[in-house]
Amino acid sequence: MSELVDLICERYTSTLDRIASAAKRAGREPASIKLVVVTKSQPVEVVRAAIEAGAGILGENYPEEGVTKIQSLQEFSAVEWHMIGHVQSRKAQAVAQNFNFLHSLDSLKLAARLDRFSNEAGRILPTLLEFNVGEEDSKSGWLAQDEARWPELLKDVSAVLALPNLQVRGLMTMPPLGSTADFSRPYFRRVKRLQEYLSSNFSQADFSELSMGTSSDYEVAVEEGATLVRVGTAIVGPRQYKTEV
Ligand SMILES: *Cc1c(COP(=O)(O)O)cnc(C)c1O
Repeated sequence: MSELVDLICERYTSTLDRIASAAKRAGREPASIKLVVVTKSQPVEVVRAAIEAGAGILGENYPEEGVTKIQSLQEFSAVEWHMIGHVQSRKAQAVAQNFNFLHSLDSLKLAARLDRFSNEAGRILPTLLEFNVGEEDSKSGWLAQDEARWPELLKDVSAVLALPNLQVRGLMTMPPLGSTADFSRPYFRRVKRLQEYLSSNFSQADFSELSMGTSSDYEVAVEEGATLVRVGTAIVGPRQYKTEV
């Protein structure tokens, strides 16, 4: 194994260990939490090394960059590619054709486009609904800070659930950036309550997945119910914005 694979493997394994400890603290089954290794802005060699180190789910933020990597790493057919960043309308087709899972569905308009392109591609796209539970309006996702206004979300959620080529699987959030991991806890709790709220309103639907937690707060996210954590820098190191992919 190369030094890079060794290094990533060590960090990947220790992240899994910390997920398992956090799960046990919360009385949860460690196997119920999946680790998404976020490789945005990393060159394809780093992504390859992450796969060789054992990563089975990779997270990308930018559709074009992700598609380039998916095409260059086709030999690893068991790897799942997750889109975790905001998807612009004009990138919906590339996402529907290439990714296995979408974390960041943030509008009904995007949902309708993804449904159409998934249908054309003969695929079903599993997806999470992204909610903004922080105080910043600039973030992506349906606004869900104010629990009193959650009933207003039901119309859009119901419309997304009705789209035949999208398969809603749960919720995703990206809390405001805080200085400590514990800063994120109330936001994770709010999303957990929102999950319960939506489940009780749509008893036939599946909202079982909760994507929350990054390098800085994934253990807190696991304590609060995350089933998917998205960890980048803690495993693959700092982002390499200047490198061509
Ligand atoms: C970049 C990113 C991550 C990973 O962040 P790290 O701090 O590198 O762990 C997770 N989720 C989303 C949506 C991101 O954009």
